[in-house]
Amino acid sequence: ATPAATMVGTTIGARNGVLFKGGDVLERTKDVDTVVFDKTGTLTRGEMELTDVVAVGEVPDGGAVVESGSEAAASEDAATGDSTATAEEEVLRLAASAERGSEHPLARAVVDGGEARGLDLSDPESFENVPGHGVRATVDGDEVLVGNRKLLRDAGIDPEPAAETMERLEREGKTAMLVARVPAGADGGELLGVVADADTVKPSAAEAVSQLRERGVDVMLITGDNERTARAVAERVGIDPGNVRAEVLPEDKSDAVETIQDEGRKAMMVGDGVNDAPALAVAYVGTAIGSGTDVAIEAADVTLMRDDPLDVVKAIRVSDATLRKIK
Ligand code: ADP
Ligand code: MG
Repeated sequence: ATPAATMVGTTIGARNGVLFKGGDVLERTKDVDTVVFDKTGTLTRGEMELTDVVAVGEVPDGGAVVESGSEAAASEDAATGDSTATAEEEVLRLAASAERGSEHPLARAVVDGGEARGLDLSDPESFENVPGHGVRATVDGDEVLVGNRKLLRDAGIDPEPAAETMERLEREGKTAMLVARVPAGADGGELLGVVADADTVKPSAAEAVSQLRERGVDVMLITGDNERTARAVAERVGIDPGNVRAEVLPEDKSDAVETIQDEGRKAMMVGDGVNDAPALAVAYVGTAIGSGTDVAIEAADVTLMRDDPLDVVKAIRVSDATLRKIK
């Protein structure tokens, strides 16, 4: 492209909230044939909210059970001398206390949820973040684990008793987290229950996917979240189930993008988080959401100043239009 075309393109982009880091990026963007969206914070708002708390051993009623525990749980607790806490409240109190050590959006929603319900949270005496899996913390002297199935299995705790609850919540598109405790001095742990967070799909996400597909661009979803939740979100926005890459560990996201590109595709990766940065860097075009982390923005070739997934289409359209017209 001529310097003039490049200038027109970058200026039109900037006016529309699409910042291209230079002329070669602007030129490449029109050739993108595959858009890979990160899920959380990119297709969804990334504003998690605690929606469910379930204690294992209780029959889930199919709805949110945050506000009140079952009567059986309350009287059981009364028998042990604790007249107020239900089994659900104890699950949430331990989970929220453990998550106090984490900055993860999933964790913040659990902590906020616990505080909003007036639970007496403890500060964890020790805390360990297990990236892509969850957290391990010491709460009131016991080890508490909050995270996915792998986190529990690695600690020798069987997640199976919560399988049905987990699957139900995941089919609703929620991120369900197992809560377990290893009492001080014990060798084995116990599964206590499940907490779940939900996120909202951005209002224009489905329209963006549909416009990309109309242009002949293949759309994919990549996430560290589990397969069922990922597919539920994919379905909502119109992404093919076969185009979902779930349970991708933070350090594996860039490999996943490279694998896609090894098929000869020209991929635009769109993401917002620190763990998206390596994938943004290896993508043919890396696109960061402007409200995302600085690390993502630095690694990217394009920054979308608004939070709007439709601006992905705009970026491709600006590149296409300016370079075709003027060259
Ligand atoms: P994402 O790609 O959605 O940002 P991550 O790679 O950070 O996901 O995490 C993947 C999965 O690991 C989450 O869906 C969750 O099951 C579990 N996980 C990660 N961090 C936490 C946490 N702080 N508390 C509970 N579970 C977590
Ligand atoms: Mg994200």
